[in-house]
Amino acid sequence: MSWDFQTEPEFQEQLDWMAELVREEIWPLEAIWPELGLEGLMRALAPVQERVRERGLWAAHLPPELGGQGMGQVRLGLMHEILGTSPIAPLAFGNAAPDSGNSELLAMAGSDEQKDRWLHPLLAGDLRSAFSMTEPHTPGSDPTQLATRAERDGEDWVIQGRKWFSSNASIADFLIVMAVTNPEARASQRASMFIVPTDAPGVEILRDVPTMEHPNEQFGAYGGHAEIAYESVRVPAEALLGGEGEGFILAQHRLVPGRIHHCMRWLGVARRAFDMMCERATYRHAHGSLLAQKQTVQNWIADSAAEMQAARLMTLHAAWTMDTQGASAARTQVALIKFFGAKVLHDVVDRSLQLHGSLGYSTDLPLEQMYRFARAARIYDGPDEVHRQSVARHILAGYEAPADGVPTEHLPTRRAQARERFAELLETVTAND
Ligand SMILES: Cc1cc2nc3c(=O)[nH]c(=O)nc-3n(C[C@H](O)[C@H](O)[C@H](O)COP(=O)(O)OP(=O)(O)OC[C@H]3O[C@@H](n4cnc5c(N)ncnc54)[C@H](O)[C@@H]3O)c2cc1C
Repeated sequence: MSWDFQTEPEFQEQLDWMAELVREEIWPLEAIWPELGLEGLMRALAPVQERVRERGLWAAHLPPELGGQGMGQVRLGLMHEILGTSPIAPLAFGNAAPDSGNSELLAMAGSDEQKDRWLHPLLAGDLRSAFSMTEPHTPGSDPTQLATRAERDGEDWVIQGRKWFSSNASIADFLIVMAVTNPEARASQRASMFIVPTDAPGVEILRDVPTMEHPNEQFGAYGGHAEIAYESVRVPAEALLGGEGEGFILAQHRLVPGRIHHCMRWLGVARRAFDMMCERATYRHAHGSLLAQKQTVQNWIADSAAEMQAARLMTLHAAWTMDTQGASAARTQVALIKFFGAKVLHDVVDRSLQLHGSLGYSTDLPLEQMYRFARAARIYDGPDEVHRQSVARHILAGYEAPADGVPTEHLPTRRAQARERFAELLETVTAND
């Protein structure tokens, strides 16, 4: 019997240490982050980063030979749940998106030269990166329709196309660009990835797209989502990351563990919103009682607790499946938690915001910011509908139509079959009557 829901004591100690560090050293910075700017924030985080390094928790998502811990997805997931409580905590631990996923890609598929030039400085915090795949005029949810092309010209590749929502591209030093290298190949082998320096001739970062998160977008701010024109961008053969035609396979390797980390970080956010909801219920008095005494509020609290617990167990189970059986075995579970986790995050934040009334809607509390963050979670890394579709397809593959067109559970049919099978017994029972 090996079901075991415990964290081993040594790792629990690490988690407790992380939780305290994040709460004591990082949460206080959140309130003055906009005043500090990115440079000031990084200065404030430098001593915290040092402590994280000393504790052996820096860039923990990477393999041990690159300074990571080889922790496995369950431990990483538990770590991300803590880091998710603050939007700036991942910066202190060397695993902020999109640099974390890009460093995984470089670690997995990069040549020694690519690792020296891009990965090591990325890990040291000397470079920033972006992942440039989604396009304004083709559906990101169906990347087989990508239109950006990379064509061979002698030893070089020439990239032509337009991308948008390349997060952090306007402050990045290099971009990992997904482009079609062979439009005739099977859909899964059409595209490849390229490492493109942001200052390469022909790379034009047009704007940071204003969003629900940043309606008055300022170009070049941390966390912006850039629109980029690639106008005959020439890169050498060594810019190809991994093999030609391996773009989608590499993207899958990046996305499957990345979604587990997202879901655990969302639980960190949801927990903070939940704590705010419970606190508010204990002191706000309306219509003759505390909010905590209203049944609707009790339902919100109980439902939120149940949903967060379900999402947490489902996500850790997906992580465990990945650790024990590999990424492809965990694929359907990861699709399941991607849309379920995003909904739990959204609903918990929404209830907490509602319970705070106008205060919840105001920027005096972080709930409105959490709400905007939660809305995006239903779109990036694959919209809800696509993950639901892939889960349903997988489940339905295990079913087939009944040969005679009669539902398997059809009671009159089952009764007739049972009467035939148990005729002797039925006869005895009836004879005894
Ligand atoms: C905050 C944020 C950050 C992002 N960061 C990056 C980044 O760093 N790099 C990058 O390359 N991209 C990034 N993206 C883009 C993101 O990955 C895409 O938006 C996403 O893949 C969806 O693609 P799309 O926007 O083109 O929507 P579409 O593919 O056009 O889909 C639009 C809608 O159509 C519906 N739909 C699609 N398929 C189906 C289906 N099979 N069944 C039913 N309905 C369906 C869904 O409702 C879906 O939301 C980011 C997006 C956001 C919001």
